[in-house]
Amino acid sequence: MIKLLGKPVADSILAKVLKRTQNFTQKWNRPPQLAVVIVGEDPASILYTRKKEQKAKELGMDHRTIALPATASPAFVYSVIQELNQDRDVDGILIQRPLPRSFFEGEVLFWISPEKDVDAFHPLNAGKLFLGFPIFLPCTPSGVMTLLEYYQISPRGKIACVIGRSSIVGKPMVALLTQADATVIHCNSKTPQLSKLTQQADILIVAAGKMEFINKDYVQKGATVIDVGIHRDSKGKIVGDVLFEDVATKASAITPVPGGIGVMTIALLMQNTITAAELRKKI
Ligand code: NAD
Repeated sequence: MIKLLGKPVADSILAKVLKRTQNFTQKWNRPPQLAVVIVGEDPASILYTRKKEQKAKELGMDHRTIALPATASPAFVYSVIQELNQDRDVDGILIQRPLPRSFFEGEVLFWISPEKDVDAFHPLNAGKLFLGFPIFLPCTPSGVMTLLEYYQISPRGKIACVIGRSSIVGKPMVALLTQADATVIHCNSKTPQLSKLTQQADILIVAAGKMEFINKDYVQKGATVIDVGIHRDSKGKIVGDVLFEDVATKASAITPVPGGIGVMTIALLMQNTITAAELRKKI
């Protein structure tokens, strides 16, 4: 069984991002800049935002965190985003989720200019992805694809099964696997006889947000298992959607949590940020 560690893959991406960032900074006399808008004080969101800021700074990018109170109105947050859209020195913008309940996701998705939309959530970017002409790829599914490529696990001609249909992970994951010539089984919380479907998968990708619910009974012998889930168990330990020790007895390759997909997501965000900066300058 191979443990599919994210760190070497993320490190190789970040080394390339660092070079591109240095070139950009030298050529345009300013570093690329990422702006993160956070509304409210969700502890996990604050932690993720800090991690993004730290990574951007390590790479020599400018980073701005715009922290707004949970009481900020959607109209006010929209005006903040509009200013960032128009700011020539801001290359990438993202809005940290979850947002307070007063925000309607169907509207918020349109706020960030598509060319600064480094999370690739704007409907134009989502549409381009589904039609096969993406500019930015959503960070977590793109992280999964990059990790598979690094470990030379090709989806081509394979049966892949994706558990979860969120717009952030499950749906774009299906689009990327389909474009990579996999045959995809897509499951959600209403899927009947889940294990019968998952057992057919050569590559099983789990993004259900349910702690350690995939055991070896869901897995075909020799399958590759990618665990996107992140949870903190009752002892404070970080675990995934997959019961690692159990599934490891049957899978041929599996991502650990932590140390698997989580570290990939932030690396892909940094890659999208330098790509956004270069595209805006047309280099
Ligand atoms: P979500 O809650 O938006 O979506 C979960 C999906 O799983 C839903 O579509 C639901 O239908 C499906 N589902 C739930 N229970 C199921 C079941 N029993 N059988 C089949 N399908 C089921 O979650 P999300 O935002 O896609 O995130 C999923 C997990 O991935 C969470 O644990 C989240 O914390 C984690 N996550 C990790 C990263 C990362 O960087 N590693 C990034 C995003 C999300």
